[in-house]
Amino acid sequence: MAGLKLNHVCKVYDGKVKAVSDVCINIKDKEFVVLVGPSGCGKSTTLRMIAGLEDISSGDIFIGDRRVNLLEPKDRNIAMVFQNYALFPNMSVADNISFGLRMQGVDKEIIKEKVETIAEMLGLSDYLKAKPANLSGGQRQRVALGRAIVREPDVFLLDEPLSNLDAKLRAKMRAELSALHRKLGTTFIYVTHDQVEAMTMGDRIVVMKDGVVMQSGSPRQLFNHPANKFTAGFIGTPQMNFFDCTVSRDENGAEVDAGFVKFNLSKQQLAKLKVAVGESVKATLGIRPEHISVGESQEGFAEVLTELVSVEDLGPKSLIHLLSRIDEKEIEFTGYGSSDVYYNDGELSAYINTDLINLFDAETENTLLPEIPEYVEIGATIKNGTLYVFNGSVKLPSALESLKDGDITLRVSTEAIIPGKDFSGVVEMRENVEDGKLCFVNAQGAVLFAIGDYEDNCTFSLDLSKVVFVNGEEIVDSIPNESLIDFRFERVKEEENGKKVKKHYAVFGDARVETFFDFNTKMYRLGKKIFENQFKLGIRLNTVRPAREDEVYPTICASLEGICDFEGKKFMKLKVADTIFYMEGECEREFLVVALDFDHMAVYDTEGNLLFD
Ligand code: ADP
Repeated sequence: MAGLKLNHVCKVYDGKVKAVSDVCINIKDKEFVVLVGPSGCGKSTTLRMIAGLEDISSGDIFIGDRRVNLLEPKDRNIAMVFQNYALFPNMSVADNISFGLRMQGVDKEIIKEKVETIAEMLGLSDYLKAKPANLSGGQRQRVALGRAIVREPDVFLLDEPLSNLDAKLRAKMRAELSALHRKLGTTFIYVTHDQVEAMTMGDRIVVMKDGVVMQSGSPRQLFNHPANKFTAGFIGTPQMNFFDCTVSRDENGAEVDAGFVKFNLSKQQLAKLKVAVGESVKATLGIRPEHISVGESQEGFAEVLTELVSVEDLGPKSLIHLLSRIDEKEIEFTGYGSSDVYYNDGELSAYINTDLINLFDAETENTLLPEIPEYVEIGATIKNGTLYVFNGSVKLPSALESLKDGDITLRVSTEAIIPGKDFSGVVEMRENVEDGKLCFVNAQGAVLFAIGDYEDNCTFSLDLSKVVFVNGEEIVDSIPNESLIDFRFERVKEEENGKKVKKHYAVFGDARVETFFDFNTKMYRLGKKIFENQFKLGIRLNTVRPAREDEVYPTICASLEGICDFEGKKFMKLKVADTIFYMEGECEREFLVVALDFDHMAVYDTEGNLLFD
């Protein structure tokens, strides 16, 4: 069992076709992740790169802790299930399932037991002797699954496995696959172009378009809070209705005007709205048909006068096609009504639940109403190493000592707000989100977003490594480009293959790394006392990287003390021998093996004078 990480993975075919572009996906152990998107968006290529059937052009893929970029498919401990089953036609079901084990020479009794258990799990017990030609499509796909399960892989990769089945069988197999995932408790990555399949099966869905990840989230998140118009239109049937509109904001609120309907945003929406006070922007109003109710008046909903176009009776409800006219323009959309009502041609009232609408920027097509705002900007002041904000103050940690006195803007994300006693606020509203409760915390007039169980009158602190400091337009880089770490240079004789050889080490507290020829030569040039004196090694952002599987540079184990988020760039705060240094990137581990590029390390004396670079 294992999680999986794709780090800035790209695939370019023949130096021309960019099939996959900078894909970053973090898949948890046991998660069922669905890659979904229109044909040609790069889903299969992504899956094939994970499987090792396709080289990656750049980036890294990790399965568990292993970087697998260079590993053969057979060494990745994954199992893949394809659309076309790929069964051996002349072999029985039992032989198809056990093929891999037989090749490995596993004991016959063990094979028999495993095959029987799996056949039972998949409802194939009565067909073990049958040949694939005598099975239904669904049964063949189950045999293909059985063949994958028997290998006990860390990760299952499924590429449109249900596409060859008819609609009814597909629905049945969807449910079976979900149940199988729960039973096996293994990571599943599933590729499909069918958003219904994605919505019904995935714990998490990754929506792709033109090789780029458009959004990754739970089915609920994608349905209720699409990050962009593409995801909004792709997820959900019937499709979300889109209307051109204007969003205007002043001190008192914000108004959405789509011509045929005009309404004010709620206080909750206003707190999240990415339109500044005094601004009026062109946008797209997105309303799901589920949020337009036809016929029955609803309290608090916006009423629009429409004309009936047609009615589709779906049994429990009717999907109603409507039309509104504004300035000679006809706008068509869909809503739902009761299937018990006969709707006459002519005028009809529809009621829009404006609390559940979406707004997208007309140009970028990104949401203007995010589920969780990326950050809130807050004015603050720095004086003598202390940060004054929300009528309170905190001392700046050493990583932020480079910040100068004066006014500064803080970008505060939900991750930057943590339980604590430094500041006080009032929780005005709460919403359920994936990771808990999203609290709207009013702190001295500014509304912040915190996730957690904050009381109505609450106190909180800021995790300053997660706050982004902005001076005017410029993001202040409080991450030092170079950190100095104390070391001793040591020479020891060691036995290697029966011979005594001299080895050189840089020793940092309890940790030591072997140094190589070029660095040793530079050290020797410093004179006689190199083995007595203490030195400082200058670790720069470009001289450290996570150790690779085939690492050539010396490596050292560092503890991960935190992540500093600097808008699009993340830095790991690492510690070795009581010294903190930084490395670009992020991970969720407690310890990290770091490769040190000794060919480009600077060395200083204990006073901080540069000795060589
Ligand atoms: P999807 O699985 O989402 O339908 P693919 O991953 O198969 O998409 O393809 C993504 C893009 O890469 C498409 O534009 C496709 O034409 C291109 N592509 C896929 N395989 C190759 C290949 N072997 N050589 C060149 N281009 C390819």
